[in-house]
Amino acid sequence: MSKHAAAVIQLGVLAGIIALVAVGLWQIHSDDPMLMSIERSRPDIMDTNCQLRAIVPPDRRQAALEALDNAVAALERTESLLSAWQPDSDIARLNAAKANMVVMLDPQTVEILTISKDLTQQTGGAFDVTCAPLFNVWRKAGKTGRLPTNETVDRALQLCGWYEGQDERYRLHPDSVMKLHDTAKVDLGGVAKGYGIDLAIEAMRVAGVAGGLVEVGGDIRCFGAKPGGRKWRILIKDPFTSGQADAIGVLRLQEGAICTSGNYERFVEIEGKQYSHIIDPCSGRPVDAAPSVTVVAPTAVQADAWATALSVLAARPEGPLAALDMLKGTDVEAMIVVGTRKDHKVHKTSGFDTLLEK
Ligand code: AMP
Ligand code: MG
Repeated sequence: MSKHAAAVIQLGVLAGIIALVAVGLWQIHSDDPMLMSIERSRPDIMDTNCQLRAIVPPDRRQAALEALDNAVAALERTESLLSAWQPDSDIARLNAAKANMVVMLDPQTVEILTISKDLTQQTGGAFDVTCAPLFNVWRKAGKTGRLPTNETVDRALQLCGWYEGQDERYRLHPDSVMKLHDTAKVDLGGVAKGYGIDLAIEAMRVAGVAGGLVEVGGDIRCFGAKPGGRKWRILIKDPFTSGQADAIGVLRLQEGAICTSGNYERFVEIEGKQYSHIIDPCSGRPVDAAPSVTVVAPTAVQADAWATALSVLAARPEGPLAALDMLKGTDVEAMIVVGTRKDHKVHKTSGFDTLLEK
């Protein structure tokens, strides 16, 4: 997962940082006497860093601290269930399992697998977590610096896909999954951050705070009140500059999620050329990715998965407009930046445009 912040939360309206303590908790007083914002950062989670904010009236400071504790715990739990690299995680156990074994999993792991399967259908196959064998081929190529052969790619491609009916490869039950092929493997890297953010937001809501925001590696979800009654203000990072605060747009959101995928920081170099970490499940090859794809959706799972999917779709011959057409009739809005620093175009859904600060 990304180590960069694709979008930056702007703290401009807040008056100042009052106290900084060791665990990365700090408290910001606003010019609004009715509400205060308590912040926390949690470095080194999901391969990146996380920032959280809880908004409460001054006499509810304890509730904010609990909300932040619970939200961080939700993120840590998500990582420990879904990381393919932690040997005892649910996903590592599922990937290691033989065919026809019943693998007992946390219901939330099955939930995100079920959501991911639905998203494969919604995105016309552009988003597919069962393509782990393919992602692994390209990950290895990035490490060795050597391009895989066509044969290697084709062989990996044959191991990918959910399949239905007689060819079915995964049988999902509420608290278990059975694989029907030894080689079937999943990689939730394109959606785990989003799912973790949704669970963290849910934990904050349950704790009863007036509003909150969770940001993991640039992907964000926010809800509820903000000091001064303002909307959340979120910068969309300019993919053509390295400055974290350089924006190509500013979103104003009451609530919802914003996720960005892009090739400006996450790529591998193979034989002197840069390749995206996003793979087209159709061709089996890294996409010649749009520099950035930003998605706004009600949940971070949707935004995260669609940002990855639109990166795939925008790179196909049908182009970014056809990719955005896939969002018609949904509550997902997106902006796709294509081209180079000198010569680029920005394509948006009309709904995205209305969320931008003019
Ligand atoms: P993101 O940064 O959210 O776009 O996710 C990228 C990560 O998702 C990659 O590092 C892979 O682990 C995984 N991935 C790459 N291509 C796809 C795809 N077409 N569908 C689902 N996951 C993908
Ligand atoms: Mg994603």
